[in-house]
Amino acid sequence: MDVRRALVNCSRGEASRANLAPWVAAGDLPAGDVVGWRDPKAPERGYLVVTAEGRDPVGVALRAPSGGGVRGAAMCDLCRTTRGPGDVTLFAAARAGAAGRRGDTVGVYACSDLDCARATLARPSASLRPDPGRTPEERLAALAERAGAFVATVLATAP
Ligand SMILES: [Zn+2]
Repeated sequence: MDVRRALVNCSRGEASRANLAPWVAAGDLPAGDVVGWRDPKAPERGYLVVTAEGRDPVGVALRAPSGGGVRGAAMCDLCRTTRGPGDVTLFAAARAGAAGRRGDTVGVYACSDLDCARATLARPSASLRPDPGRTPEERLAALAERAGAFVATVLATAP
């Protein structure tokens, strides 16, 4: 399926205008169930798509602040990697439904390139903060759980 259809927190028109990263468009998705990318034509936009076992993908559109990434070292909420200045960004996701149309957002600190899943598999354990004893598969499972929890927050009805 077109992953744009998975986006839950924007209008159909906005979703149809989302630009896929070349590797996403090519269907070259990484192992694991979390896919993120920055919009190649709209640098302030990003997308995070989570596929739970046996379910259709669910994705959220994210917006990055115009000022860029966090100025100091910061930890990604998704892959829990601590990275240097600019490499982590505080993204905002509009809440799904009426709350989002009113302007409610949920924030998440994430790797600026949103490439956590591929990075989690590829990066040597020494550069990953607190779980040096865990395998890439275990880290990827934990990443999928945290990303799923974030998407669930975006979908939750605002109080
Ligand atoms: Zn990350």
